[in-house]
Amino acid sequence: MTNKYRYFIGNWKMFGQLSSIKILKRVNSYLNKVKNNNSKVIFCPPYTLINSFAKQLKKSLISIGAQNCHHESNFGPHTGSINSKMIKNSGAKYVIIGHYENRIRGDTDLLINKKIKASLNNKLKIIFCIGENRKQKNKRITNKILNKQITIGLKGINKKSEIFVAYEPIWAIGTGLVPNTLNLKKNLKFIQTKLKKILNNYKILYGGSVNHKTIKFIASIENIDGFLIGGASQSSKKFIDIIKNSYK
Ligand code: PGA
Repeated sequence: MTNKYRYFIGNWKMFGQLSSIKILKRVNSYLNKVKNNNSKVIFCPPYTLINSFAKQLKKSLISIGAQNCHHESNFGPHTGSINSKMIKNSGAKYVIIGHYENRIRGDTDLLINKKIKASLNNKLKIIFCIGENRKQKNKRITNKILNKQITIGLKGINKKSEIFVAYEPIWAIGTGLVPNTLNLKKNLKFIQTKLKKILNNYKILYGGSVNHKTIKFIASIENIDGFLIGGASQSSKKFIDIIKNSYK
């Protein structure tokens, strides 16, 4: 770990209604009960829930983030889009950028770079996702892919920017599969070495099929500051079990 805190970040994807605040409230009650708590919890619900959740959780141990943003910093004629200025104004502190599910819908490395810059301008903390797909893994070009994603994604970014880099192998997202020890260590080391040259203030997350079972193995790997959790973050019980099991 490069930091004393351990981050648990829930990515709700297209899930949740206003009443789903109860899930976050249960997680918060749990966090309040834990002594010497060094877990930092962030939930990224859909845009429609950010403001309501952020208001209701103002005095809680949970922060709110968004799952994406438009690449323009300012207002403009982009029907259906939300930018980081609006996200910040709605009460979120974080934004996920470059998630695979948005990369396949047109987020190029260059566009991701613009989104990161716009979000930093609007004082959001960045959760920047990178990762290789199955084919790239099999062809043993993972390092090349990660290198390209990091180099272009973080081009021209101020060294002091606070960036969480989430290593999410695409083949591990929503599949129940996780990398083996050797691969995970190797890829994280590669990412760390690369980030060291670019940023002063980075943290490394792992994402892809994190659940109450896989967390035991993943949390035992060095150099991971936290976890990006999709499906299992939609249930308070599953999410709390992940936190608990990460310390076992
Ligand atoms: P998963 O998703 O935990 O459901 O695999 C992770 C993600 O997409 O961020």
